[in-house]
Amino acid sequence: MTQSSHRAGRHFLQIPGPTNVPDRVLRAIDAPTIDHRGPTFQKLGQEVLEGIKTVFQTKNPVIIYSASGTGAWEAALVNTLSPGDKVLMVETGHFATLWKKMAVKLGLEPEFIPGDWRHGVNAAEIEARLVADIGHTFKAVCVVHNETSTGVTSDIEAVRKAIDRARHPALFMVDTISSLGSVDYRHDEWGVDVTVGGSQKGMMLPPGLSFNALSPKALAAHKLSKMPRMFWDWEDMLSANKSGFFPYTPATNLLYGLREALLMLHEEGLANVFSRHQRHAEATRRAVRAWGLEILCANPAEYSPALTAVMMPAGHDADKLRAVILAHFDMSLGMGLAKLQGKVFRIGHLGDFNDLTLMGTLAGVEMGFDVAGVPHQKGGVPAAMQHLAECARTCSAARMAA
Ligand SMILES: *Cc1c(COP(=O)(O)O)cnc(C)c1O
Repeated sequence: MTQSSHRAGRHFLQIPGPTNVPDRVLRAIDAPTIDHRGPTFQKLGQEVLEGIKTVFQTKNPVIIYSASGTGAWEAALVNTLSPGDKVLMVETGHFATLWKKMAVKLGLEPEFIPGDWRHGVNAAEIEARLVADIGHTFKAVCVVHNETSTGVTSDIEAVRKAIDRARHPALFMVDTISSLGSVDYRHDEWGVDVTVGGSQKGMMLPPGLSFNALSPKALAAHKLSKMPRMFWDWEDMLSANKSGFFPYTPATNLLYGLREALLMLHEEGLANVFSRHQRHAEATRRAVRAWGLEILCANPAEYSPALTAVMMPAGHDADKLRAVILAHFDMSLGMGLAKLQGKVFRIGHLGDFNDLTLMGTLAGVEMGFDVAGVPHQKGGVPAAMQHLAECARTCSAARMAA
């Protein structure tokens, strides 16, 4: 380490995952690793396996993997499908594209509905493809709930209704890796068969855990599915999980963290967590508009509560701006992924986050524009402040009335 390596104050990790891990979670993780076949672990296992269901809003089993989100993507596919199966996927952005590539590598046959990376899923288009599929060759419809590369959220309930209107038996799989614990999501009510989640975004944990929430229909498909699998197999997991255990060594310390994170989400109340994310997203968009810049998401109904992707003025490089902000203000912002590299930067406003964290973040961006010579209008920061203050006033008026 060089003498100048210490930077005072907290680093601002404002990428849309991994997110800032709260002190309570860090402290919970900082405990001795225990025997994962012993009685103390059993209680922990039972608590987290039951507790994790609440964030998916499901009463069905949820599998917990020691893996990043990509592992849980693979688990969803290999536990339910057979080689050569057709799956319907939608190009909402970079993550949807990666999930499609994975399907190809696994020997599935995805049909990919093209998209412009500025809109969410078009449910009517899905319905049309399913209606045309008279032989029911599509075995699954796979959709990303919150496309982290673009800041666009898709209407999952609308897709469920489209599948039902088409009277198509395909399984419905949804990636909630960057929305779980930040955006209202209802696995049971929306009739999702496999929901894929991850630990390091809205769940406020370090990377390393990921999830599959199941449905009875997914479990039935599992029995007939012929994809090779071993580490990902639901069956071994479910039978060990019945008594709170895992078939192989779990990430014990991350499970301590998960128990604490679930406690925190419920102390705040999920409804409050979701409205907090909405408030910060709205304040961020007001700042972007005041700067005179464009939000990548083209449809206001699909704005992401978890992150905002901001388009750079023509001729200015987002990565240069991000480097300047990191160097001068010790803040990391999300880069533009794949074809968006250099063209957008992404502000993560999810996880352990409050009004002043947002103000620090937006001030860092506005100062960064100045330092990097990015043309913009002043006043993004006060526009966001005004929104947050207005929300606080309404909130305390409501409290006085109650
Ligand atoms: C982060 C992310 C992934 C990939 O998860 P890893 O944890 O990096 O494997 C997949 N989908 C979405 C929507 C994501 O945000």
